[in-house]
Amino acid sequence: MHTQYTSTRNNAVNYSASQCVIKGLSDDGGLFVPCNLSEIKFDYKEFIGKSYGYIAKQILKAFFSDFTNNQIEYAVDSAYNINNFETKEIFTLKNFSKYGVLELFRGKTLAFKDAALSVMPYLMQCAKENMNEKRETFILTATSGDTGKAALEGFKDVEGIKILVFYPYKGVSELQLLQMLTQEGKNTYSFAVEGNFDDVQTAVKNIFTASLLQKEGYGDKFFLSSANSINISRLIPQIVYYYYAYSKAVLNESIKAGDEINFVVPTGNFGNILAGYYAKKTGLPIKKLICASNKNNVLTDYFNTGCYNKNRPFYKTIAPSMDILISSNLERLVYETEARCDKKTSELMGQLSLQGIFENNIHNHIFDDFYADYATEDDIKQTIKDTYKKNSYLIDPHTACAFKAYNSYITQTKDNTYTVILSTASPFKFSKDVLSALGDDDSLDGIKSLYRLSELTAIKLPKAINGIENRHKKEETVITPEKMSETVISILKDGEKDA
Ligand SMILES: *Cc1c(COP(=O)(O)O)cnc(C)c1O
Repeated sequence: MHTQYTSTRNNAVNYSASQCVIKGLSDDGGLFVPCNLSEIKFDYKEFIGKSYGYIAKQILKAFFSDFTNNQIEYAVDSAYNINNFETKEIFTLKNFSKYGVLELFRGKTLAFKDAALSVMPYLMQCAKENMNEKRETFILTATSGDTGKAALEGFKDVEGIKILVFYPYKGVSELQLLQMLTQEGKNTYSFAVEGNFDDVQTAVKNIFTASLLQKEGYGDKFFLSSANSINISRLIPQIVYYYYAYSKAVLNESIKAGDEINFVVPTGNFGNILAGYYAKKTGLPIKKLICASNKNNVLTDYFNTGCYNKNRPFYKTIAPSMDILISSNLERLVYETEARCDKKTSELMGQLSLQGIFENNIHNHIFDDFYADYATEDDIKQTIKDTYKKNSYLIDPHTACAFKAYNSYITQTKDNTYTVILSTASPFKFSKDVLSALGDDDSLDGIKSLYRLSELTAIKLPKAINGIENRHKKEETVITPEKMSETVISILKDGEKDA
């Protein structure tokens, strides 16, 4: 079967996967979605007991159908191996009888973003090959902390690609900042921007729609692309671990092949959980997708009322990767709730951008696929403490939001279905807040708190950050959103000097 893609805002768009990978976002501002989503099906029973790489190849082949088998094998084999992940099995499912925790933070940057960003550079290379695209790729990305580091690491020293990351100034954790400032690679750049994540993301989107490179005369040598989760090469690889978790749950006899399961997903930009929805659409027997937010609970309200309203205070929380009020990937779900009507989707997204609010029909059956809840700052801390006390299991603040939402779900529905909680970050990425939740010394600086957390819990520091304080660290550069375009151009200018 051949998979072509269209835009959520213009159904006349018809692109190959390669074209979408390169473009990132449709010219009409919409997101790319497979034309034949309802026809793509995977035999999840056939995946049981298979390796992560095997499942990834089957899924990527279907969605990147203009890639050759060799290209898919090259991309998957280059990404999912022991050089990039702590264990050979890539991700592990920890079982706690009624539920399991899929630890998605075993990659190089200790967040689930590694799942997609380790393969994306190879998919991008292949897409360029397929399109005979000889220009250099300039990856421009807004990050709330984890994407930035994972993208810098994934694209580091990849031939023909430069990567620039913008993050909100003082909006990321100490360790996230340190991870970015100690990034190696000749082609990697990061800047702090005054503002919150939504400001940064909006400014990045504007650079894309303004055709900046063409206007400034760089269009012949470079093209812009994004490593944000709007790119299909980020989204699609995330479908894999939903199938993989199911396979693992069958193998450890938590479920029988054919049983339904639930997933709980710590959610920000709605990329992770949308991949879960695609897993369900393509045949995985998922009963509920439980959407967990922090105090920025715009999605909780959306799933409970059908009304999306971003006109509310923006909170900086201890789960910063979920501090988002405009969840970009939700547009792909809205497109489905509107029966794939491009006009209606454009209209709703127009309302969101002008008035900050839009409304869906809450009676749409798609809302039944989801349950949503959120965690306050106190909930997060309490949950970290309780989970550690009860199960001797240490979780990070994002995963704590998921545990809180899961507990609410169980209390409210009494549902007995086996549930997989996606754990999206290592607790060491947020040591200070985790220590404070455990009632320990929270006055330590970022590095000392790392070692203290390790000592307190007798959990070894992950290799990826062990000794990070001794690595070469560059100065942080802070700019205003107005300077972002200029910064892009100055890097292109410098690139010319080097060449
Ligand atoms: C990015 C991130 C999330 C949110 O994922 P989305 O795909 O943006 O919804 C949750 N937790 C952590 C640790 C993250 O890095």
